[in-house]
Amino acid sequence: MFDNLSEKLDKALHVLKGHGQITEINVAETTKEVRRALLDADVNFKIAKEFTNTVKEKALGQNVLTSLQPGQLMVKIVKDELTQLMGGESEGISLAGDPAVILMSGLQGSGKTTFSGKLANFLKSKKTKNPLLVACDVYRPAAIDQLHVVGEQIGVPVYSDKDNKDPVSLAKAGIDYARKNGHNVVIIDTAGRLAVDQQMMTEIANIRDAIKPQETLFVVDSMTGQDAVNTAKAFNEVLDFDGVVLTKLDGDTRGGAALSIKSVVDKPIKFIGTGEKMDAIDVFYPSRMADRILGMGDVVSLVERAQEQFDEEEARKLQKKIAKNKFGFDDFLNQIQQIKKMGSMKDLLGMIPGAGKALKGLDIDDDAFKHIEAIIHSMTPEERSNPSLLNASRKKRIAKGSGREIKEVNQLLKQFDQMSKMMKMMQGGGGKKMMQMMQN
Ligand code: GDP
Repeated sequence: MFDNLSEKLDKALHVLKGHGQITEINVAETTKEVRRALLDADVNFKIAKEFTNTVKEKALGQNVLTSLQPGQLMVKIVKDELTQLMGGESEGISLAGDPAVILMSGLQGSGKTTFSGKLANFLKSKKTKNPLLVACDVYRPAAIDQLHVVGEQIGVPVYSDKDNKDPVSLAKAGIDYARKNGHNVVIIDTAGRLAVDQQMMTEIANIRDAIKPQETLFVVDSMTGQDAVNTAKAFNEVLDFDGVVLTKLDGDTRGGAALSIKSVVDKPIKFIGTGEKMDAIDVFYPSRMADRILGMGDVVSLVERAQEQFDEEEARKLQKKIAKNKFGFDDFLNQIQQIKKMGSMKDLLGMIPGAGKALKGLDIDDDAFKHIEAIIHSMTPEERSNPSLLNASRKKRIAKGSGREIKEVNQLLKQFDQMSKMMKMMQGGGGKKMMQMMQN
């Protein structure tokens, strides 16, 4: 995500490294590079100029007031300004009303249907929400089918009626259906066209006026840069939507849309899409995004993802097993499944401070665990629960069965052994000691 932008900003901010103090000259040099980085990211010229002017002013103004090194001061100022540019505070969606109605708008291909599914899935996981998806694209029967596929995938019902060609009455019927069937959130997926056109705009505006949704969201493909911003502007003029959903951030190396949209339409970015799968959705937090852009990672989101997957009951069982020295390869597989649920490897690594830069250019396999899983799957259940059974001939059989080399099997066994020891240490009161070690 935003790799190009991160790299260029990193270079720009390097200008000040080693300088003892901020001067008009080195600030001018840095901000020139920052501006270039923003322009390369497809940020609108005016926004880039205003941004760098503010940064320059703040750097020169704060210089005397702080004990920070010039390089650190500049990073802080740029981070604060990036956060402001993307909206400052995070703004959630309103789910007031029973049912709460969320209307999706956007061009065809922007990721509306996918996002409708992701949002339904996201809300469903909040336990108190029981969403209904409504298919309101009366022009493309395939779009209705697509929403049904998505709904089935996440276990959320979909209301549709291929005989009804009036989107307004369809939307109303969907809301009625939700009321009668106990759905407290309704997500309405509407028709999109390939380009902005008046008829589409009028149609969505008519739906909006008739059903008065709690939220009208505008979905846009972030990879389209300035086009995304222009489309947002056109939709906002007619719809006056409540928030933006930026999709396909996983493929966006530049970040121009994310950086410009808020200041052009003055509407917050509320969610982002970071992949094709149903769990590739995140609430948008401007300051966390600024951290990621500047290569500082996003530890808060990482911890939140881990917490979402954390199952107290499972953790307790695991703890007992470790205490009894019964932690086996099946438990190990289980742990891998939990990590995989947290998201793609690339995405997770991007949240670790500095990791993005360190791993740049490496082709991270999104299924990084597949070899480990293959090896474990080639073990018998007895071997999995009692790895000490694994003698040379068994290892050879496992290597053959999994199509891996014997040295990989050995490596995994060694890692497993180390991990078991470490877990034991954490259990036996060593945890405190280890934490202290890590803090030092
Ligand atoms: P719609 O026409 O606006 O409903 O768009 P779709 O939901 O059909 O999405 C268009 C394409 O974009 C599909 O192939 C989706 O899988 C893909 N897509 C949607 N969101 C994302 C995302 O966040 N990341 C990636 N990589 N692809 C996405």
